[in-house]
Amino acid sequence: MDVEVRHDLFKGKGVYAKKPFLKDSIIFQEDPLVSCQLSWNAAYGYLACDHCLRPLETAQENAGRLSGQLVELPYPECCTIDKSKITKCPYCPVNYCSEECKMEAFDHYHKMLCHEINGSHPLEQLNEAWKKVHYPPETNSIMLIARLLSRIQQASNKEDTIAQTLEFCHTTTDKSKNLAHKLLGEKFVNQIYTLHGLLVAAIPNEGIEHLLTFDGFLSLLALIGTNTQGVGTSAIANWATKAENLSLETKDKEVFDSFLDQLYQQMEENVGDFLNNEGVALYRLQSCCNHSCDPNAVVKFMNNNHRLSLVALKDIEEGEEICISYLDDCVLTKSRHSRCKELMNNYLFVCRCDRCNNESDQPDETSEEDDSMSD
Ligand SMILES: [Zn+2]
Ligand SMILES: [Zn+2]
Ligand SMILES: [Zn+2]
Repeated sequence: MDVEVRHDLFKGKGVYAKKPFLKDSIIFQEDPLVSCQLSWNAAYGYLACDHCLRPLETAQENAGRLSGQLVELPYPECCTIDKSKITKCPYCPVNYCSEECKMEAFDHYHKMLCHEINGSHPLEQLNEAWKKVHYPPETNSIMLIARLLSRIQQASNKEDTIAQTLEFCHTTTDKSKNLAHKLLGEKFVNQIYTLHGLLVAAIPNEGIEHLLTFDGFLSLLALIGTNTQGVGTSAIANWATKAENLSLETKDKEVFDSFLDQLYQQMEENVGDFLNNEGVALYRLQSCCNHSCDPNAVVKFMNNNHRLSLVALKDIEEGEEICISYLDDCVLTKSRHSRCKELMNNYLFVCRCDRCNNESDQPDETSEEDDSMSD
């Protein structure tokens, strides 16, 4: 491993480079502890492997579904989706991209969660209840908590797996409550009891009683609220990247670029921003990376599944801390005050990064275009 996690008395955990990295190089790659597709994304027919989120349709099919039109893609050899490997859980209608994913899921969490779809299973009810409190644009899923707990129940060493899970929890009960409420939003706060009841009904509590109490549930909601990383995969985007890298003649390149522009326009007219298979995941190493408003690294999904790649945004020296941005690109362009407000709201901390320190003389004003997201 070319990075290490250090514990600083003031800053807490952080990830540091053990060797220099050039801009655009991969710092590390990591599979998550657990991941899952977002509930509405799945309900709307976005087809992803239930374990690793790899697309389960070809780029051609993906383009057709998203644009609502019959599309013939050029350079079909650039599509990397191999549908012949797709397989199903033998006991329920869940699909996987490969035999490996099916085994991995079954061995680690799916065995306990596997159930017939009949509308009455507590997990189905939990998913439906979650959908009612968490409409698109989705940012999280309670099903990640179900997988996390099931992973503990199926583990050969329960104690170690519980400890691994609790590594992500580092807030007080009061803060957990605050974060859980943020995650649900004011309108849906009362649903917290329903969600808790359904989770308790869905997961056997043997050995994890403390995690399934109401306070335990709040800290699990806080855990997913502050630690999950969004995952996006797309057959069409993956195909487009491969096709763009072909060494085409100038004229062919122009034809291709205008085809792609038109296709994306059609898709956006039909489905808006919802182009990707979307999911959330928990990563042990990436979750130790601190935030900076001027990050030197960024999360990417280059394998078109939940395997995360951390990529250098600039040259990084040996010993330097590796920071990512917890804010999306749009918020990152806003004033110090707007950024800090967002971080305080969602993560309960005050940013002390170099950029914030340099901008400390900026007035405490919210960026103008900010009104829609302030609360
Ligand atoms: Zn898979
Ligand atoms: Zn199953
Ligand atoms: Zn900052």
